[in-house]
Amino acid sequence: SESQINFKDYIRVIPDFPQPGIRFKDITTLLKDGPAYRAAIEEMRKAVEHLKIDVVAGPEARGFVIGAPLALALGVGFAPIRKSGKLPGETIEASYDLEYGKDVLAMHKDSIQPGQRVLIADDLLATGGTIATSINLIRQLGGEIVGSAFLIELSYLTGREKLGDIDVVSLVTY
Ligand code: 5GP
Repeated sequence: SESQINFKDYIRVIPDFPQPGIRFKDITTLLKDGPAYRAAIEEMRKAVEHLKIDVVAGPEARGFVIGAPLALALGVGFAPIRKSGKLPGETIEASYDLEYGKDVLAMHKDSIQPGQRVLIADDLLATGGTIATSINLIRQLGGEIVGSAFLIELSYLTGREKLGDIDVVSLVTY
């Protein structure tokens, strides 16, 4: 059955990308396998369905390939979190630090209604900088964050601590 899939077998680790010392977890090897991709989204759906989610929010670009199918599976909408300058409507912005680098994230002001129950989704939780900034944006819009879901958690980077008491679901841990 789907639950017997070991998702770690489908993730490729690439040393020294995008810079020396980083062991990059490449999810394209999972995405290209239809049954594995579907099983991963289904496992995440089952883990969060009890949270009464109104909308899933995910940061570009890999947060889209996890968050959007998860939203579809849950039957709810998807709110994109993008790099500054990409969204055409009125936005709010917040800056963030990555595991490598720095950038600014933005959301449309009307992408979440006050009081909506929001699940944050991304491919990978590392330092938690991306997610901390996503939380900031969603809360500015009045969204209530009811949980977070990741394909991969790098537990040695303790990103989970930045999530406070928010529920964390992850399928694979390094
Ligand atoms: P954080 O902000 O938690 O430090 O980093 C997580 C973000 O960086 C995620 O949006 C993720 O897509 C990206 N990221 C950082 N390291 C990796 C990695 O090894 N593999 C993948 N797929 N994404 C990574």
